Amino acid sequence: MISDLTYNDLNKADSLHGVIRQATYLFSAFLLIGLLLRGKIMSKKINLAGQKFGRWLVVKENGRSKWRDVLWECECECGATSLLKSCELRSGNTKSCGCLKKELMTKHGMVGTPTYETWHAMIQRCTNKNNIHYSYYGGRGITVCKAWLKFENFFKDMGERPDRLTIERLKNNLGYSKENCCWASRSEQRRNQRIRSDNTSGVIGVSWVKERKKYNAKIQIKHKTINLGSFDSLEQATEIRKNAEQKYWNK
Ligand SMILES: [Zn+2]
Repeated sequence: MISDLTYNDLNKADSLHGVIRQATYLFSAFLLIGLLLRGKIMSKKINLAGQKFGRWLVVKENGRSKWRDVLWECECECGATSLLKSCELRSGNTKSCGCLKKELMTKHGMVGTPTYETWHAMIQRCTNKNNIHYSYYGGRGITVCKAWLKFENFFKDMGERPDRLTIERLKNNLGYSKENCCWASRSEQRRNQRIRSDNTSGVIGVSWVKERKKYNAKIQIKHKTINLGSFDSLEQATEIRKNAEQKYWNK
């Protein structure tokens, strides 16, 4: 026989268990809702593919982290790759694979400035076979003149890079040299053309295909549209379009 006291104690213990169990259920439910909401918010993420953050170029989305953060496959200008989270890229906490930090030890003190980064990217895409843009530059025979392989000489010829301008080759099939280069804005690079208001990439003849997350390049020849292909980066698509302009329009 159970005495009254013991019976009461058992009852108490039982209800205590009940409370703990309920609290556990509630906690789990909140956790689940939290995770689902997080997933939902994350799925509305901004697409970073094709964007540049310092020396990183975002190539494509590549899975999620343990905490369901979107991971982006990124390629450094030097060719190194890494998986990075949106917040890491957008906060500016990481600007390169570490190569930038190493170069910061040089004498001229220009490392990290827009001018230096332009020079560095040019050298990389023309000379580094591992660079993502190599096939459209070095791989096509686009070279950097011997003097410009040294930053100091490039700087002497070109001066500081003006705000929002990029280095442009006057003749697209010739390489980078004092004679063939100038600082130009994207609109100057396409002087005789107006960008359509419905343009999705900012570059004429290149459009952003949302569904496929690719840049598509096209060109009009004698009222016919020729598809030049789809590319992961805006830079690639722009280069292909420029080559086509030269080939078909003799620009
Ligand atoms: Zn690097």
